[in-house]
Amino acid sequence: MTGKFVLLNSDDELPKHAHAIFYLDRDQRLVFRDQRQFGVMKLIESGSLSESKGIKELAPEPFGDEFTVEYLRSLLKRSRRSLKTLLLDQTKVLGLGNIYAAEALFRARINPFKPADQLASRRVPDLYEAVCDVLQFAVEHIRGSISLEEGFSYGAAFENFWQVYERAGEPCVRCGTKIRRATQGGRSTYWCPKCQRR
Ligand SMILES: [Zn+2]
Repeated sequence: MTGKFVLLNSDDELPKHAHAIFYLDRDQRLVFRDQRQFGVMKLIESGSLSESKGIKELAPEPFGDEFTVEYLRSLLKRSRRSLKTLLLDQTKVLGLGNIYAAEALFRARINPFKPADQLASRRVPDLYEAVCDVLQFAVEHIRGSISLEEGFSYGAAFENFWQVYERAGEPCVRCGTKIRRATQGGRSTYWCPKCQRR
């Protein structure tokens, strides 16, 4: 989340918090910067990548065939955790971080604190669509906005597009009610108390 890759030319100075350097052609270096040191780097043979620890436990990819409304429905039915916490679990749903989980729940008009097994079955397709849409949106915007020269970090490029994340106290884009913030599972959660009442 906090790490970023930066592309350096031969005369560029190495930035602070440079933890891995890849030496490329034309005297360029690809540098992994990670101030908070959450990043992990492993050397694995490409043939055994999908079976390696940390990868094989990952949930189905939201753009893949395994991630369906039915998959999500049975997942939710079996969990009493809050929806937001469950969506962040990478062994259940892959690819949603704190920002996108909050945004997906807002799009689907679902309360982030709702226990997963209490979401009505007919509302699961809304959540499914919202998860796919928010990731699709991010992929489309990342495509045009990556700049390795300036360093790229997830999320930061789209702060103008977020509808609830880091908008506590601002009016909801749909209904004008003030967006609220609370801590949930150690992370900040943002939601509209009117649109996401249930
Ligand atoms: Zn609202």
